[in-house]
Amino acid sequence: MTNRSCSHFETLESVTDPTSTVCDQCVASGDVWAHLRACLLCGSVGCCDNSKNRHARRHWEDHRHPLIQSIEPGETWRYCFEDQYLVK
Ligand SMILES: [Zn+2]
Ligand SMILES: [Zn+2]
Ligand SMILES: [Zn+2]
Repeated sequence: MTNRSCSHFETLESVTDPTSTVCDQCVASGDVWAHLRACLLCGSVGCCDNSKNRHARRHWEDHRHPLIQSIEPGETWRYCFEDQYLVK
């Protein structure tokens, strides 16, 4: 997963801080999630692929923002959906 290349991180000029501490879309629909991811480009917070609604992935599909970071405590990795590229 880490041996492919990704050009998106090089073009990232500034990281936007997460705008929430929950998955707002899951809260709105009364669902629960497993883990939270934040979009590096706009700060939108969504739930991970192990969650029922996969809002982080849907944010990428809807907005074409491929770069996320984990905002789980103790986790600092970043990921590009488009290239399936993990940065630890
Ligand atoms: Zn990429
Ligand atoms: Zn969600
Ligand atoms: Zn975004």
